[in-house]
Amino acid sequence: MTERRKSRKVKVGKLHIGGDAPITVQSMTTTDTTNFKATIEQIHSLEDVGCDIVRVSAPTMEAAKALKEIKENISIPLIVDIHFDYRIALEAVKYVDKLRINPGNIGNSDKVQQVVNACKNYQVPMRIGVNLGSLERDLFEKYGYAPEAMVESAMRHVKILEDLDFYNTIVSLKASDVPRMVKAYKLFAEKTDYPLHLGVTEAGSKIPGTVKSAIGMGMLLAEGIGDTIRVSLSDEPKEEVKIGKLILRSLGLRNEGVQVTSCPTCARTEVDVIKLVEQLENSTEMVKKPIKVAIMGCAVNGPGESRKADIGIVGAPGNHLLYKEGKIVKRINDNEIYDVLMKEINEIASNGN
Ligand code: SF4
Repeated sequence: MTERRKSRKVKVGKLHIGGDAPITVQSMTTTDTTNFKATIEQIHSLEDVGCDIVRVSAPTMEAAKALKEIKENISIPLIVDIHFDYRIALEAVKYVDKLRINPGNIGNSDKVQQVVNACKNYQVPMRIGVNLGSLERDLFEKYGYAPEAMVESAMRHVKILEDLDFYNTIVSLKASDVPRMVKAYKLFAEKTDYPLHLGVTEAGSKIPGTVKSAIGMGMLLAEGIGDTIRVSLSDEPKEEVKIGKLILRSLGLRNEGVQVTSCPTCARTEVDVIKLVEQLENSTEMVKKPIKVAIMGCAVNGPGESRKADIGIVGAPGNHLLYKEGKIVKRINDNEIYDVLMKEINEIASNGN
């Protein structure tokens, strides 16, 4: 892992993006924002699985007004996503912690100035979000779908804000194509110190989207690039959060939650590893405390993995071995495993240490 790029630290509600702040995981609601009850409910479900920051769209003035109620009923920072209409931005900025808007798309300079003034007034940062699929025509003609086009587009938006003495900015350069996305972020990271929101956009359904996101973001994060991430899936937003957390955990950048090490199973398996892992992952998705659990089919690799974990199960003929803090503490049978593991996990989770 390369040392993290030194980015500017931007305050987003009670959190920060950039600088030495932990890399955060974001997601976006899929509800109608004007239905604030459903939106609040969805945000709560995202908070439960560890979402750090949430974004909602405000396509209408009515949606912008609903943000007040939403903000008052959630505990994580709220971002609003706005396209084109500066009047919606001026209403939304009163209630949110960040505005996702491209200043170059707002219209004339007076409108941009009003939005910038409001952001300064409410101390709300902006995210500039460049997307390879919606480049300015002249840049597309100059570069086609090259990463340089995204970088130049982002620099244009950045310059509009800098000319108005606004530097409270976060930038994303998303593409659905991983190599282009990686290159765009790398090029932009060399040019500025603005914090970067990483994403592979329109990544697809759960499996292909996870692979693309993990590779694209993983390549950048391993090189120290990236301050907040959003996995973008055609699936439930909760899945985006879980996968985002896993990406960060896989690189040792975050460690919250239950992390299960399990074997793929083979002819030696003495315990139903696959079912147990699924049950455990479902039952522990709301646990925040870092807990390592090993579930291993037999004694070939089981003891080694279990010794490294807080709790481990090693399948054995007859009764299986339960490890705790690296040592065998007892033998348990098939029917007890799940309950015993959950009891141990809950004990560690509720222990203040
Ligand atoms: S730990 Fe045992 S059961 Fe699991 S894959 Fe390895 S040899 Fe097979």
